[in-house]
Amino acid sequence: MTLQHTALVHNFNSGPSVLPKEVFEQASQAILDLDGTGLSILEIGHRTPIFQAVLDETVATTRELMKLDADHEILFLHGGASTQFFQIPMNLLNENETAACLDTGIFAYKAIKEARVFGHVDVVGSSREKGYTYIPHDFVIPPTAKYFHYTSNNTVEGTQMHTVPETEVPLVADMSSDILSRVMDFNRFGIIYAGAQKNIGAAGVNLVIVRKDLLGKVTRQLPSMMDYRQHIENGSMLNTPPVFAIYVCMLTLRWLKGQGGIAEMEKRSERKSALLYDTLDSLPVFRPKVAKEDRSRMNVVFVIDDPALEKEFLSLCKENGMVGIKGHRSVGGFRASLYNALPMSSVELLAELMKDFAKKKG
Ligand SMILES: *Cc1c(COP(=O)(O)O)cnc(C)c1O
Repeated sequence: MTLQHTALVHNFNSGPSVLPKEVFEQASQAILDLDGTGLSILEIGHRTPIFQAVLDETVATTRELMKLDADHEILFLHGGASTQFFQIPMNLLNENETAACLDTGIFAYKAIKEARVFGHVDVVGSSREKGYTYIPHDFVIPPTAKYFHYTSNNTVEGTQMHTVPETEVPLVADMSSDILSRVMDFNRFGIIYAGAQKNIGAAGVNLVIVRKDLLGKVTRQLPSMMDYRQHIENGSMLNTPPVFAIYVCMLTLRWLKGQGGIAEMEKRSERKSALLYDTLDSLPVFRPKVAKEDRSRMNVVFVIDDPALEKEFLSLCKENGMVGIKGHRSVGGFRASLYNALPMSSVELLAELMKDFAKKKG
């Protein structure tokens, strides 16, 4: 039997979001019969050789694609990126120590709030007062900080840090919405984390990359499930891992590698976002919301300064099979998320719709 995913929609969802068509088909097949075993991926034990091979490939492909060195451990954990907001300070920050944080969006702000439960937080820069429409660039990271936390891409607001801050302090980054979309020296980071549901795979699992030497330095007692060292010792199998979500990650990583890896994703994301921003800039009816130099290549946020026209454009998008184009409830307007698996053709259609709309309404 063959299963086919018939994508009649253009999926601009912000997360969970579009994945490659092949991944949907292969994952569906694995629910029925995993590699000819007669078993579903949903009914196999996590400590079987067959699942161990899935986890091993997922970890190995992540290491290969991101070119991670042996000092960095790769974990697949539960609880989403939001759990990392507190698990990181719990593992790295003593009560009398300070974490430096950059406040660039609602997720960055949540991470700051959670870190305060465990120690001091020095907010070195914030664009909160200006509705997070830009990234502060003139911040100073105190050398005494235990680590520096920032969000590489602000999913809701549509801004992105285009450079990695220079500092001696260990870097901790929430890369939930731009991981695997841009080439970086990932070995420069102390911790990288990302919920899988934007660029890695299915919701329910979280990629956490940890530099081992940062661990074991807090004095507090850690519950086992919160302790990175125990997860490392147990190879992400301290308890039952999210088997199916990890399987989908494996398939997506395999697809990504086959397409040419992160460098190829970066090229595509530059092309997709450039087309959309160039179109927006050429049509006065649309107004991109954030500072030009901080524009995100993953989440393009824009408005129309007339609620009636905004409604009309949203209907036009819907009529043309576009999904997930409405902005986050806290920002309004529109948000087009251009994750790795979103084809260029979807962006081209959106750009065409914008031009037609502007011609009629301009
Ligand atoms: C989606 C997102 C989160 C929240 O992820 P959960 O998996 O829902 O906890 C955190 N940070 C960023 C940057 C995100 O895009």
